[in-house]
Amino acid sequence: MPADIVGQRILKEYGALFVARGGAIPPNTPIFKNESEVFAFQAKLSKSSEKLGAFNIELQSAAMKWLKKAIAEAAQNNLTITPRGADSGKRDYSQTIELWSSRVEPGFTHWVGEGKLSLSEASRIRALSPFEQVTEILTLESQGMFFSKDLSKSIVYSVAPPGTSQHLSMLALDVSEHKNAVVRGILAKFGWFQTVVSDLPHFTFLGVSENQLSGLGLKKVTDGGRIFWLPNL
Ligand SMILES: [Zn+2]
Repeated sequence: MPADIVGQRILKEYGALFVARGGAIPPNTPIFKNESEVFAFQAKLSKSSEKLGAFNIELQSAAMKWLKKAIAEAAQNNLTITPRGADSGKRDYSQTIELWSSRVEPGFTHWVGEGKLSLSEASRIRALSPFEQVTEILTLESQGMFFSKDLSKSIVYSVAPPGTSQHLSMLALDVSEHKNAVVRGILAKFGWFQTVVSDLPHFTFLGVSENQLSGLGLKKVTDGGRIFWLPNL
């Protein structure tokens, strides 16, 4: 359990993948602090790359192996399981920074415009490393200045803070057919579960059967007719 508030928050929101097994390697930290930490982690993984739908997707080998089993079972039911885009599997640290900035920058513009945040404070935070910005943005949110896309809720429900995305660990896939309950059921059967409540296309490879998840410290949350498995914290 991380000692700091931000680490605890990140673990609570995205931490289900720390129970991953069945050949999957979970990350060694709740937050990768920079690009070199991500490189070092990704470099030691057993990886597998496949053309899925229109895109080349790279995942940890165990995650890909069971995904392909799910795709095969879906095909028997005349269904497909395909990635939403080229960045639906593995992501690099720099891609997660771009996504983060795409929420932080409009947020700064809005809250400075509203007179709630000074331009100098926005500039100070902007100059920090992405890792350092996470604490600052969550602090602003605790004061009511939210940074999600519609500025109504926390940024963590909109994008993963730098270094926290499950895609960095190569155990996540954003699925086009996520609205189909049969598809979700097939993915779950092969170890792929929904673990981030706000992120509907997002699935996480945990590598175990559903009836083992409670015993591993996850809790089942039903939201919008879907099942999510979240850290029981
Ligand atoms: Zn995702």
